Amino acid sequence: MASKRVGVYPGTFDPVTLGHMDIIRRSLRLVDCLVIGVATNPGKGPVFNLEERMAMVHQELGPLADDVGTELLVEPFSGLLVDFAARMGSQLVIRGLRAVADFEYEFQMVGMNAHLDPNIETVFLMASEKYSFIASRLVKEIASLGGDISSFVTPTVAKSLYGRVGQK
Ligand code: ADP
Repeated sequence: MASKRVGVYPGTFDPVTLGHMDIIRRSLRLVDCLVIGVATNPGKGPVFNLEERMAMVHQELGPLADDVGTELLVEPFSGLLVDFAARMGSQLVIRGLRAVADFEYEFQMVGMNAHLDPNIETVFLMASEKYSFIASRLVKEIASLGGDISSFVTPTVAKSLYGRVGQK
């Protein structure tokens, strides 16, 4: 049998949205083991700390992996993505691509990462039409203004977010 194909899906997941979950659900069919890398990312000033973000990803995705039989791991990471991927035994990075706005940044990242480690390949999954406008940043903004975020995140995540930003 061929060796196990491990994919890494990195992000800040502050918090995990239905858009992220769609990418994860689809990625599970492409690999034998999917590692969701939750970035420490203090630079982005996350609303939820690393442990909280990891717990939310865990809680939303555990049942999904059981459905398809793919191994699913949620791991923290800081530092270089190429180092994290290598540590996880992966040469495959998965990213979601929403609009042109994502493209330029992602294009640069692929170029830089290819220089840092030529063995790493990045695969992009186009956002599904119905989730393509969802961004964690905007979900947080809407929640803080007391808006309805039920189309963007699960009820559990919505509850945590309203609890944190003080609305609803
Ligand atoms: P980062 O801090 O790396 O941008 P995010 O948590 O914002 O982390 O996103 C992680 C990955 O998920 C990125 O590849 C991003 O483009 C993708 N992503 C975020 N929201 C969506 C969405 N609604 N549909 C598809 N992909 C998405």
